[in-house]
Amino acid sequence: MSESMHDALHRIFGFREFRPNQEEIVSAILQQRDVFAVMPTGGGKSLCYQLPAYMLDGLCVVISPLISLMKDQVDAAKANGLDAEFLNSSLAPKDRFRVLQAMENHQLDLLYVSPERFAMPDFITTLKRAKVSFFAIDEAHCISEWGHDFRPDYLSLANIVKHFPKSAVAAFTATATHQVSDDIVNKLGLRNPHLTRASFDRPNLFYQVVPKSDLDLQILQFLREHEGESGIIYRITRKSVESTAEFLQEQGIQALAYHAGLTPKQRKENQESFNRDQVQVVVATIAFGMGIDKSNVRFVLHGDLPKNMEGYYQETGRAGRDGEPAHCRLYFNRSDMVRIRYFIEQTEDPNERKIAEQQLFQMVRFAEANVCRRKSILGYFGETYEKENCKTCDVCMGDVECVDATVPAQKIMSAIYRSGQKFGAVHIADIVVGAKTQKIRQLGHDQLKTYGAGKDEDKKYWRRVIDDLLAQDCIVQNAEQYSALELTPKGQRVLMGKKNFEVIRQKEGKKKAMAGMSG
Ligand code: ADP
Ligand code: ZN
Repeated sequence: MSESMHDALHRIFGFREFRPNQEEIVSAILQQRDVFAVMPTGGGKSLCYQLPAYMLDGLCVVISPLISLMKDQVDAAKANGLDAEFLNSSLAPKDRFRVLQAMENHQLDLLYVSPERFAMPDFITTLKRAKVSFFAIDEAHCISEWGHDFRPDYLSLANIVKHFPKSAVAAFTATATHQVSDDIVNKLGLRNPHLTRASFDRPNLFYQVVPKSDLDLQILQFLREHEGESGIIYRITRKSVESTAEFLQEQGIQALAYHAGLTPKQRKENQESFNRDQVQVVVATIAFGMGIDKSNVRFVLHGDLPKNMEGYYQETGRAGRDGEPAHCRLYFNRSDMVRIRYFIEQTEDPNERKIAEQQLFQMVRFAEANVCRRKSILGYFGETYEKENCKTCDVCMGDVECVDATVPAQKIMSAIYRSGQKFGAVHIADIVVGAKTQKIRQLGHDQLKTYGAGKDEDKKYWRRVIDDLLAQDCIVQNAEQYSALELTPKGQRVLMGKKNFEVIRQKEGKKKAMAGMSG
């Protein structure tokens, strides 16, 4: 069996080797087992069902939410010699009839359909007459309300197992959280599935965080250094997408905008221009995602801080799907954190607020900790990265340096501690700079030992130290008590001088060296 699998891999797809996990998934499907596979973008999921679709008798039904990509996927499969067709709302009646006929006459290897078909009893009946060997569910996280892309249409896929008890079901997703994974397996009713959870490491991606100053110019410079390469620039608002795209166009860069405020037609056109290499870059909000079918994206730039690590990982993951080196750069400035925090503070639900706050600090920690970026990302997904030096991130390349900030950290934490851990950041910074506010006088905080201990620096400086401490878990905000700052055990160790507190800064003069680096 394994011999002919290899032969088919080579003959049909022209690949010499399987990528990690592909072989075991293909052989599980060939044995008619249910499969649940979590693989990062670029892991090569399509091959996992296309190869068995070719080898097995009968039809493989591929369920995908991406109607706009189905035609391209079918054309690609046909080019490899598979008998493939698709069925969705865009098809003319005449073509639909032809496809249904081919299906009933057992002439197809692969049929791509959109999930809403499974809510149509007629379709199920027809499908029962076709000989279905297995179902492949792409983007399976769309069935989970926990996921970032829930689609109600996907819920009808829960019936597949009931209607087709003899056919195997293989579900695929690139979403990494364990909660969503469990939910998918339960909702689909997979029967003792073969489980694959690939490593989320993307060794060909270079991760880097650079201080954000004059963003549009910084982006322009990057593009000039990467002429002829295609990439995605993520921005947080529609307005900033528009203005960055406009700026780049004025500078002669072929750039298009993409956000949810455009008409569906415009979005589709812009997406296709990008997929077909007709423009160099797309400036987009996170609405630009699943429809990207392009393996040679050479860079993903984040002009603003993403809201959470999952989003950051998925967005950067769109780079380098072909396995060639690609560049992921995040432009980071503290003011982004302040802005996101402002939005979080408007959230009504205290629980949601807390989660959003934690996610934000995880992002800030990622940007500011002196830890290999790869290690941080994988750690977020519960994966341990063993190597000391990944050689493909700015921290491991020595582009950032560590600065000791133990003394300022102690001043802040001492003020928090001595005032009884009952006050927010504004008041604590006021104590440390020795401000003469009414609140301080009334509470007698001008009598504290730390009052004015930091008068050589301004409030902005001390707010930053507080943010550093929050980001590194030395202090926390009490959500129930007006965001009062409290010390964590880690913070207490720093305060007692048992542990140093360090922050990272970009090394001067490193920028040039990075500019010359390929990939
Ligand atoms: P995913 O859906 O997991 O993001 P794709 O199925 O789009 O990944 O595959 C990503 C790219 O990797 C495609 O260009 C595909 O042709 C290529 N690929 C898949 N499997 C292999 C393999 N075994 N060897 C080389 N390239 C592969
Ligand atoms: Zn590293």
